[in-house]
Amino acid sequence: MQRSNVFGGMISLSLIVVAALGCWKGSTEPDNLTPANYSSTPSATNKSNTRSNENKPMEEKSKSGGFAANMPAGFVEPTDDVGKKLLREYGAFFVARGVTPPTKIVFKDDAEVSAFQSKLQKSSESIGGFTLELQAAAMDDLRKAIADGKSQGLSISPRDKDSAKRTYNETVGLWASRVEPALKHWVGNGKMTQADADRIKGMSPYEQVAEVLKLEEKGIYFSKDLSKSIIYSVAPPGTSQHLSMLALDVKEFENPQVRSLLAKYKWYQTVVSDLPHFTYLGVDESGLPGLGLKKVTDGGRTFWVPDI
Ligand SMILES: [Zn+2]
Repeated sequence: MQRSNVFGGMISLSLIVVAALGCWKGSTEPDNLTPANYSSTPSATNKSNTRSNENKPMEEKSKSGGFAANMPAGFVEPTDDVGKKLLREYGAFFVARGVTPPTKIVFKDDAEVSAFQSKLQKSSESIGGFTLELQAAAMDDLRKAIADGKSQGLSISPRDKDSAKRTYNETVGLWASRVEPALKHWVGNGKMTQADADRIKGMSPYEQVAEVLKLEEKGIYFSKDLSKSIIYSVAPPGTSQHLSMLALDVKEFENPQVRSLLAKYKWYQTVVSDLPHFTYLGVDESGLPGLGLKKVTDGGRTFWVPDI
């Protein structure tokens, strides 16, 4: 199977918006992650309504259309619609500066992730009771943000032990924790044959993604409560920004002062639907439009997303 076609045409594009969100897992699975949260991204024409209509994301067009020009050298452009959508909704970190972003949308397996992570300049630190590892520049600026916060009585800490770096196999484990019980359920109630379930179980996680999403088109859902798509529940393996060691899930994400402080040190929100998730972009806010990113305001939060 060609890499670029792995998700090809299997699901509606609006769903894949959240496929790459690395934060979601286990007991921290947010309750508010419903399709309604992602279904609309109003155009800049709604800009004047920002105050009166805070639930809708508001876009602010950047002056630069240079996202593609700022991608890392050797980046493999996705050719399928889902890959393109992933890039648009989730790809801000590909233009991060002072760090090493990946050169593809989806890591295929543990070997690919390990090879990528092994060549990075990394740094680890004990923060909030957890030992975290990030790309070095990202960690340096996080340390500065934490020190600055401390002087103001603000705490910045991770939500959990896997809030920074994640391994491919961790993302696979989270994926399997949804897929396996769901297969059992759907075989049990006769919606799926044991042979089909066995066939899916025998696939690599990479192959399972397309298969599971195809079944979901028929109403055979794989989220934890089996009522919605698995991608509202957990990120498909290989798509998490955490694999690139440029993301941090922050415990104090509800505090606007903490969000401002993180932005001051080049940590931004880049995925509109994933509120605890922050991404290191390596430049001051004034430099973000020049990287081809645009500002989206939603619920009082500022997100920087690819302007494509
Ligand atoms: Zn995250």
